[in-house]
Amino acid sequence: MTTTTSAQVEFSGLRRDFGGTVALDGLDLKIEPGELMALLGPSGCGKTTALRCVAGFERPDSGAVLIDDVDITAIPANRRDAGMVFQSYSLFPNLTARENVAFGLRIRKVKAAQRRARAAELLELVGLAELGDRYPHQLSGGQQQRVALARALALRPRVLLLDEPLSALDAKVRTTLREEIRRLQLSLGITTIFVTHDQEEALSMSDRVAVLRAGRVEQCATPAELYHSPATAFVAEFVGTMSRIPGQLHGDEVEVLGQRLPVRGSAPAGSRVDVLVRPEEILVSNDGTAKVVATSFLGAVTRVDLTLADGTPVKADVATHEAAELVSGAGASVRLRERPVLVAACA
Ligand code: ATP
Repeated sequence: MTTTTSAQVEFSGLRRDFGGTVALDGLDLKIEPGELMALLGPSGCGKTTALRCVAGFERPDSGAVLIDDVDITAIPANRRDAGMVFQSYSLFPNLTARENVAFGLRIRKVKAAQRRARAAELLELVGLAELGDRYPHQLSGGQQQRVALARALALRPRVLLLDEPLSALDAKVRTTLREEIRRLQLSLGITTIFVTHDQEEALSMSDRVAVLRAGRVEQCATPAELYHSPATAFVAEFVGTMSRIPGQLHGDEVEVLGQRLPVRGSAPAGSRVDVLVRPEEILVSNDGTAKVVATSFLGAVTRVDLTLADGTPVKADVATHEAAELVSGAGASVRLRERPVLVAACA
């Protein structure tokens, strides 16, 4: 299966204001050739608007979209080299799967024999070789999304745009299809931008994740960097599980749970702060003034939900073989690993 060479995509100072609602507020981001970049963020942070600016369905008020350093902002959607898959399957209901896949080729006046061959190749690629004659209503949601993916790839685009393509599917199909999309993307080497508000989806599929907040990039990094070194409290809390534990600032250290730890990054004004901690940064031992509320067995580790003496809820991951006595209602003591911590203004 061949594609044209993969492209670099760049958002440069992209701004879009919908009558006072600022969807994009100077978005800057570079996606490297062949990379799968997720745009992750809460509802309304501008993910879809950014994607639509690449597709050509949305025109920014200022700034530019560049593909391989060429400004494409003024080029109409039908002349851009991008294939898009939407959240709703958006297949033509009166066309078969094969006809849906071949639709763009027909518009481009590709000869019938070539259209048939290309549609067959793509249906094979997405695992639907046998179902080409079915209409959309005769296909499951996952199968329809595979057809939509095949249709988006039919014209050999240099950029693939996926707008929450899995969110209408049930959990099991979602997991399978995200693995398939990633495999396909890697084998084609196609530059892909994937919009999602699901952090697990973003972290598991992407080379890098751009966390958006209010129309700007808050942090762009690999999944591991985002998780282990979030640049801000917003990213820390949006990606992965975080507990907030009250602390007191003393210069560039914070006093928390009777320990003094260095502060990582910047601290807010004022001396009272919340310390942000991941479940694996919390050490739990038997007996103490904290109380175990509930436990969940996760395999090698057990997630322990506790409340501290002052009522603060915390979540800790404890090696399962050390968690036998941490049952609901038991007393426990809680410490943090001796590492620099992120702090945020009190919630
Ligand atoms: P979601 O995860 O809910 O889809 P999103 O991050 O994709 O959100 P966008 O769809 O890009 O967010 O929208 C960003 C902001 O711009 C939102 O406040 C939205 O209401 C607004 N917006 C988007 N499109 C329009 C439009 N055509 N007219 C008016 N406001 C719009």
